[in-house]
Amino acid sequence: MLDLVISSGLAVLPSGPEPADLGVASGKIAAIGAPGSLAALGAGRVVDAAGQIVIPGGIDPHVHCRWPIVVPGTTQHQMTDGPARVSQAALHGGTTTLIDFALVGDGDNVQQAIERRQQEWAGDCHCDYAFHTMVQGKLAPELLPQLAEAVEAGHPSVKIFTTDITPSRKGRMVNFGDIWEVLKVLAQAGGIAAIHAEDNDIVMHMYEKLFREDRTGFENMAEVHNTLSEDLAFNRVIRLAANIEGAALYMMHTSAATGVAAIAAARANGVPIYGETLHQYLMYTAEDYKRPNGQIYHTYPSLKFQADHDALWAATDHGAIQTVATDEICCPLRIKLQGRRIDDTTGGNAGVEPRVSLIYTETVEKRGYGLSDFVGLVSANAAKIMGLYPKKGALAVGSDADIVVLDPRRRKTVHAAELHEADYTPWEDRDLAAWPSLTILRGKTVVDNGAFAGNLKDGQFLSRKVSEEVRARPAV
Ligand SMILES: [Zn+2]
Repeated sequence: MLDLVISSGLAVLPSGPEPADLGVASGKIAAIGAPGSLAALGAGRVVDAAGQIVIPGGIDPHVHCRWPIVVPGTTQHQMTDGPARVSQAALHGGTTTLIDFALVGDGDNVQQAIERRQQEWAGDCHCDYAFHTMVQGKLAPELLPQLAEAVEAGHPSVKIFTTDITPSRKGRMVNFGDIWEVLKVLAQAGGIAAIHAEDNDIVMHMYEKLFREDRTGFENMAEVHNTLSEDLAFNRVIRLAANIEGAALYMMHTSAATGVAAIAAARANGVPIYGETLHQYLMYTAEDYKRPNGQIYHTYPSLKFQADHDALWAATDHGAIQTVATDEICCPLRIKLQGRRIDDTTGGNAGVEPRVSLIYTETVEKRGYGLSDFVGLVSANAAKIMGLYPKKGALAVGSDADIVVLDPRRRKTVHAAELHEADYTPWEDRDLAAWPSLTILRGKTVVDNGAFAGNLKDGQFLSRKVSEEVRARPAV
C-alpha cells in the first residue's frame, strides 16, 4: 500500500504540467497515475489537491547559514542564524533542499573542511542539504588533488571569488593563475566552478575613488560593484574556461546586463555555463537603496539599474539565467542595518521562505510563464546543474518524494511577523499569488496548512554528481 497519495492536483512533471495522482512509498515517488486512480487504491493518507499546483520541493542553491558577519569598525564577527531556523523557514515556503558552503580555511585540507561543516549541520537541519566547497586566498598546491578527491566523493561544486569584495575582507580573492588550475582540476574530475565574479581592480579603484570624494554611503554601492566590473570579470573567467576542455561554470548572483550578455555569448559558443540571479536583483534596483532602511535590499555585488533589471528578467525566459537563489543571510534587522557605508553594509538577505511563492507570482502570474519554467527556476534547474537530478527537482517515479502543494487560492500579503525567518523581510507588504498548503520531505509531511511537523533529525546530507551532459555543453 502507498503511504501517501497527492490526488488530482495539477502536477508539474518533467514532461509538463498535467492533472495527476502522485503515490509515495518509503520516501520515494512510487507511482504517477490519472487523477483519482491512485487515491482509489487507498493509502495511509490521501490529500485532495484539486485546484492546486503540485511541484517538486524548491532548491535554493545559494544560502549561508551560521555565517560570520563583520561588526562594522571592528574585527569581531557575529554569526547569522543557523540551519535549524533557516531550514524551518525554507520548508514553510516550499523549499526542501539548501546548498550552503564549506569554507576551506588557512591550513585546512578540503576533506576536513567539508567534514567539519557536515558535523556542524548533522542533527541541526530540518531539510536536506549540501555544500559548495569554498576556497579563498592564495591556494596551496596540495589543495588541487584534494579538490579532485572531493569531487569524486560527491562534492562537485567549488566556490571561488575573483575579488576581495570590500577592502576589509582581504584574503577572499583567488588569483587567475590559481583559478585556472582549479578549473583544470574540476574539468578533469567532473566538477563545476561556482564563481563570484567581479573585477577586483575596478572594485578597489572605485572604493578608493569614492572614499577620496567622501561619497561613502551605501546608496552609492552600484558605482563600486558596477556593471563594467561584472563585464570584465565574467568574460575573463569565461575565456579561461573556454580554453579548458570540460570546464563548467556556474555564475553566482548575476546582477547586470553585462553579466547576462557574457553568459549568453558563451552559451551560444557551446561553453557549459549557467547563470544564477538572486530574487532581490529581480525585484529591486539601486534606486531602492534610497528608501528607508535601504540596506535591506542589498546584497553583494549590488543592485543595479533598470536596464539590468530588464535584462535579468528577459534572461530567466530560456536565456542566460537558469536559477533564482536567495544568498540567504538570516539575521535581525538591527544587524542588517548596522553598516551604512559602501564597505561595511551587510550583504545577503532573509528570503528563503517566500522565494518559491514570490517567483511563482512574478513569473506565472505577472509574466505568463509556464509552470515548468517556474519550476525550472526554483528547483529543477539547480538540481540538474548541481548534480542532484532526478533524485531532487523532479516529480518522477523513483525521485525523492519532496513534494510541495502550492495553493493559488491562498493569496497572501508578506509580513515578516508571519514568516519564520528574520524580524524583517525585503518583501514586506508584497502580494503573493499562491502559498504552499503542504510540504513533504522524502515522504514525510513537514508542513501541513502552516503547522510545522519537521524535526532536526529529518535533514540529510546530499552527495552529488554533475552529469556529463551538463558539463559538456549548455544542457539546462
Ligand atoms: Zn553568497
